[in-house]
Amino acid sequence: MIFLRKKQEIINPYTVEQCTSCNTSKKRKFADGDYVFKMVAKCTSCNNGQVIISKIYGEVVK
Ligand SMILES: [Zn+2]
Repeated sequence: MIFLRKKQEIINPYTVEQCTSCNTSKKRKFADGDYVFKMVAKCTSCNNGQVIISKIYGEVVK
């Protein structure tokens, strides 16, 4: 998915996933169907927590 702003800037959306237990977070490219607080998977770092999407944001492509 690509968003366009004034001056035809291209915005690349990113998704940040975060573990609710150990707070490990990682950034990846946005995928269709992503939304904030969506549960993604079990955490592979602590093998205990649930990984959820904590943030979705866009970066301007330069
Ligand atoms: Zn964890």
